[in-house]
Amino acid sequence: MAETAEIFIDGQRVAFQAEQTIMMAAHAAGIYIPHLCHHPELKPHGSCRLCVVEVNGRKLSACTTLAQQGQIIHNQRADLIASRRCVLQLLFVEGNHVCPACEKSGDCQLQALAYAVEMISPRFAHFYPQRTVDASHPDILLDYNRCILCELCLRASRDVDHKNVFSLQQRGDKTHLSVNSASGQLADSTLALGDKAMQVCPVGALLSKQTAYQTPIGARLYDQKPIAQGEAHDG
Ligand code: SF4
Repeated sequence: MAETAEIFIDGQRVAFQAEQTIMMAAHAAGIYIPHLCHHPELKPHGSCRLCVVEVNGRKLSACTTLAQQGQIIHNQRADLIASRRCVLQLLFVEGNHVCPACEKSGDCQLQALAYAVEMISPRFAHFYPQRTVDASHPDILLDYNRCILCELCLRASRDVDHKNVFSLQQRGDKTHLSVNSASGQLADSTLALGDKAMQVCPVGALLSKQTAYQTPIGARLYDQKPIAQGEAHDG
């Protein structure tokens, strides 16, 4: 009889298939591993560091590490949660994230993760960067203040929509998202509401103008249930 391939996440036995990452195996089993740059329909990116788990004593990103027989994985240990809280605290001060004034509030993964790890103190000094809003497109708003550089829109536009609307420019703390059009404005790009790139932004940086506030604040996904329950099976 063939042995079942299995890993152990926080003591729970989890079966996996060949070529599955730890993230894929965990989510298939209903175990949530936090993430911001991961999407199940896009290639793993491993950049946000929210999904770092401990695998046989080593800290590794769950979205890029293949599941292998017998791995002992910690996902919910206090030190891992503290690291995730620190990453989120850095993200919150690096941009201008004003949750009460954001259309994405209640549907935002950044906000929901901050609640999940009980991030309450500012901890670091705010950068308050000067950034713009691109409202040139008739259907779409791009608010650079809220962009966390996860590259999900970039990868979705390039790999799924085959339009290559976005790129990253410069390096280090100057890194920023850019629109690949002659004017640098969304209105001059080929981005459309139906694009995959419009479905993957985890924060309120890329928004549809047509559907804003259709669902009232208080009745949104993470208003109803914590992100660990809301995303366990689909993301
Ligand atoms: S606009 Fe959204 S999806 Fe695109 S890089 Fe910024 S945060 Fe990520």
